[in-house]
Amino acid sequence: MPELPEVETVKKTLQQLILNKTIANITITWSKIIKHPLEVEQFIDALKGETFVDVGRRGKFLIFYTHHFALVSHLRMEGRYALYPKDEPVDKHTHVIFHFTDGTELRYRDVRKFGTMHLYKRGDEFSKAPLADLGPEPFSEQFTVEYLQKKLKQTSRKVKPALLDQKLLVGLGNIYVDEALFRAGIHPEKLANSLKKQEIAILHHEIAATLSEAVEKGGSTIRSYINSQGEIGMFQLQLNVYGRKGEACKKCGRPLEKITVGGRGTHYCPNCQKLKK
Ligand SMILES: [Zn+2]
Repeated sequence: MPELPEVETVKKTLQQLILNKTIANITITWSKIIKHPLEVEQFIDALKGETFVDVGRRGKFLIFYTHHFALVSHLRMEGRYALYPKDEPVDKHTHVIFHFTDGTELRYRDVRKFGTMHLYKRGDEFSKAPLADLGPEPFSEQFTVEYLQKKLKQTSRKVKPALLDQKLLVGLGNIYVDEALFRAGIHPEKLANSLKKQEIAILHHEIAATLSEAVEKGGSTIRSYINSQGEIGMFQLQLNVYGRKGEACKKCGRPLEKITVGGRGTHYCPNCQKLKK
């Protein structure tokens, strides 16, 4: 599943590809992707004649802006956007097509069909599902050490599942949470409310640093991540722990381990990230 850095990369690419393009029509072949409005015809009628004027991001959600509407899109496991000329054959996994007046098409392809789209009037998008209850952005002024400390103290969960909760903080997924915890030297199963202020300060720093470095590199390419131009493997981020079970820890040289935490495969170094110090 794409995490904040990948979605940020898709956003930037889409900005270059679709701004100022006007929607002539929309084809939807799998209506369950459209979550709001429930009537697909309403979705299509609203957007016909609208022009994409901006693409934003909130957490792992893309927000497509026209003059009057905000389209909130989550790629979930396999969702991908790509721009094609209209005469290019349409793949069977393409479920939503925005036909533009200039003869190009923005196609949404989703093998597993888990992705979602919500359309709202501009200005309503942040007060409705799915954006309404999201926590702060990791690069925002709201995400301070004090905020993180307060939230971690309030929960009885382990630190990894706590950090994956998008209501606490947006953007982290299974890959970057493992990376941030490794860099902070914190065991993923440590209870969130047992962390000391100093540990939380380091964790806060490493979350922002891990994500911003990944944004700079354009997101990682794990699971053959394809960017919205259809380019595969443009970027390869050097990960410290994720996917490196049994390989040498880059800090201490001992083998990394993989365990399950909160139902998620979790990579860590048992030497650098001790449960009890
Ligand atoms: Zn180590």
